Amino acid sequence: MPQTNDSKWNARNRISGLIVADLHSHTRASDGSLEASHLLEIAQARGVNLFAITDHDTVASVAAGRAAAAARGVGFVAGVEISANWQSLPIHVVGLNIDEFHAPLLDALQGTRDMRLLRAKAMGESLAAAGIEGAFEGASALATNPELVSRTHFARHLVQSGVCGTNGEVFSRYMKPGKPGYVVSEWMALEAAISLIHGAGGSAILAHPARYDTAALGGTDALVSGFKKSGGDAIEVVCAGHSPSDWANYAALSRRYELKASIGSDFHSHAESKVRIGDLPRLSPSLVPVWSDWAITESLFSAHRK
Ligand code: AMP
Ligand code: MN
Ligand code: MN
Ligand code: MN
Repeated sequence: MPQTNDSKWNARNRISGLIVADLHSHTRASDGSLEASHLLEIAQARGVNLFAITDHDTVASVAAGRAAAAARGVGFVAGVEISANWQSLPIHVVGLNIDEFHAPLLDALQGTRDMRLLRAKAMGESLAAAGIEGAFEGASALATNPELVSRTHFARHLVQSGVCGTNGEVFSRYMKPGKPGYVVSEWMALEAAISLIHGAGGSAILAHPARYDTAALGGTDALVSGFKKSGGDAIEVVCAGHSPSDWANYAALSRRYELKASIGSDFHSHAESKVRIGDLPRLSPSLVPVWSDWAITESLFSAHRK
């Protein structure tokens, strides 16, 4: 009997069940410790078949990631994790399945990186005023991309120079709002980040929503509904910053606000990341995955469509 009674929906759903996705990761182009090719080697070894590189405010590793993914037969979409502000709160918006050559996006990311360099210098001055000399130079020496000296690089430097025992300690003593090394940044507005991602043909995803301190701004519900109203497409439901109870909470918010669901390890390095690439539970089939309308899933799994 030919399988003629399968609806398109069922076919899509079956394709979705075959996808093992990890859609949030960092390379040395931002604050990750590995090269793109190394991430793809790990992704393939762990059975991931849909992967994205989402460096902070740069797409510099996307080409290398795409080439490595093609060589290994791993599905790949270009990504970026944009630093943005929702009201006064710094948040991260992941753009996935973007055209990484879209000029307005590249121009805006360049502007953010220019600002990051000034910010890093100001962080160094702020730490010097608190008695810690040479932190900008130390952090810069650990960064591959001179335009991307992030708080992570400061944290690594302050651990290596013995000021603190762990990156977490650096963040709580020096890198959080109100602490001596913290510098307030004028990131682009959430709406601008979303519209740049849409202009580049991509999907806009609210990264690790449980990680933000939204208490003074109406709580996580206000953030998620604000993200939806601003035109966002999806939220990360299963990700490194989330506990199992967060998975359930954000699955419910994904359904309530009709936002698609994404999944990603947010891998930075073997030493620092709690979650390994591909080492996350699958998204619940009750959620609409962020990749549901991406052409790549059709072509990757076309053999299973009939
Ligand atoms: P930046 O983009 O320069 O503000 O740096 C933010 C990065 O710092 C995040 O992407 C994480 O990789 C890292 N980070 C944030 N909070 C912590 C923390 N509490 N402990 C360790 N790393 C953190
Ligand atoms: Mn990071
Ligand atoms: Mn982030
Ligand atoms: Mn990230």
